[in-house]
Amino acid sequence: MKKFIVLILLFFAGVCFAQVKTFYSDGSKDIGKVALTFDDGPGKATEKILEILEEKNVKASFFMLGVSVQKNPAGAKAVAAAGHEVANHTYGHINFYAYKDKDKTDKMEKELLRSENIIKEATGVEPFLVRFPYGYSKSDAVEVAKKYDCCLINWSFGCDWEKITAGEMHDKYKKAIKNSAIFLMHDLHENEKVLSFLSDFIDEIKQMGYEIVPVSELLNLKRDRYFDFADSEKTETAAR
Ligand SMILES: [Zn+2]
Repeated sequence: MKKFIVLILLFFAGVCFAQVKTFYSDGSKDIGKVALTFDDGPGKATEKILEILEEKNVKASFFMLGVSVQKNPAGAKAVAAAGHEVANHTYGHINFYAYKDKDKTDKMEKELLRSENIIKEATGVEPFLVRFPYGYSKSDAVEVAKKYDCCLINWSFGCDWEKITAGEMHDKYKKAIKNSAIFLMHDLHENEKVLSFLSDFIDEIKQMGYEIVPVSELLNLKRDRYFDFADSEKTETAAR
């Protein structure tokens, strides 16, 4: 009888977890894979990043800002044409942690959809991975993502906005290499620091035995199919 009750409890726990599968900061699974993600572009660093990724034969995920795609549709097209994953970082990089107006949910929906349409027009891809600016991932963001069959994706490590040297930055990224890590970097501005070590960083990840794959592959996500990972780690929220 006790066993039966435990099974019933486990079943309901499973149902509860199944309802919060929209947000992932990293996979935390022993899968031998990691993902590189680039936010805010397409921008000044996109072309050089694409060159490095091609040279290293690596596919990454680009969380594009609608406003950046509007300014640089060719850059967005180049990302998609190179076979990288096109994802949505919403339209105008609004900080929803600080957004106090009553229309917040409505605004979040509009930001998501406006960007989705612009990205779709520029690349032909309808992105279903969404990352709100600054990693905003409170329950209202999760609900908005769900409403539009999107998956909210954050990251396990990123620090390319910190005022540190390229060497220090490289070290920090290197130390954060682990199974199913999702790395965050940015391609809107020149980002010379990241460009100085990205190639070596990719080699280091590979030397540690990890395969670099797009986020959807890392998390085994497809639209309408949310994979069974619990959110394991608090994500940093200080990203630009
Ligand atoms: Zn951003």
